Amino acid sequence: MGQGTESCGGYDVEYNPYEEGINEGMWTEKSGSTISVTDMTDRHIKGAIRVCQGAAKRASFSCDAELWEAWIEVFNNELFYRVKKPSSQPKLVKAKTGPKTKPRGSMVAMKCHCGKEYQARKADLNRGWGKSCGKRCASIKREYGRPDATPVK
Ligand SMILES: [Zn+2]
Repeated sequence: MGQGTESCGGYDVEYNPYEEGINEGMWTEKSGSTISVTDMTDRHIKGAIRVCQGAAKRASFSCDAELWEAWIEVFNNELFYRVKKPSSQPKLVKAKTGPKTKPRGSMVAMKCHCGKEYQARKADLNRGWGKSCGKRCASIKREYGRPDATPVK
């Protein structure tokens, strides 16, 4: 926790469901209900990308814009991931563990390009997420072409 607080000073004003949800891949609808990105239809995701693009343009803080851009990345990853996997791929078994129990993904110790060590969720890494210690480093990595974090032995 606390990632991003140092990169976004003063960004602690209120609870932001999009900030919280991005780690879980939980998108918040206009109605306030949440849906897992993986459960959204392609069309739904494309609509959400437009919402993010609009919000990013209106964002008054760079870290807000970053958050929306991060969401766009999540959605694009999801779409990309879907396209790449043909339907012949065995469907991932949905965890039928009840509505509230979230399966805890196993964590991997990673070392960011900045040298900081952090824990990343294995599932996120498999999807190409979590390759930096935080949002700030993620955007540095993107803009300056820094290497992905490497697993710590
Ligand atoms: Zn870092």
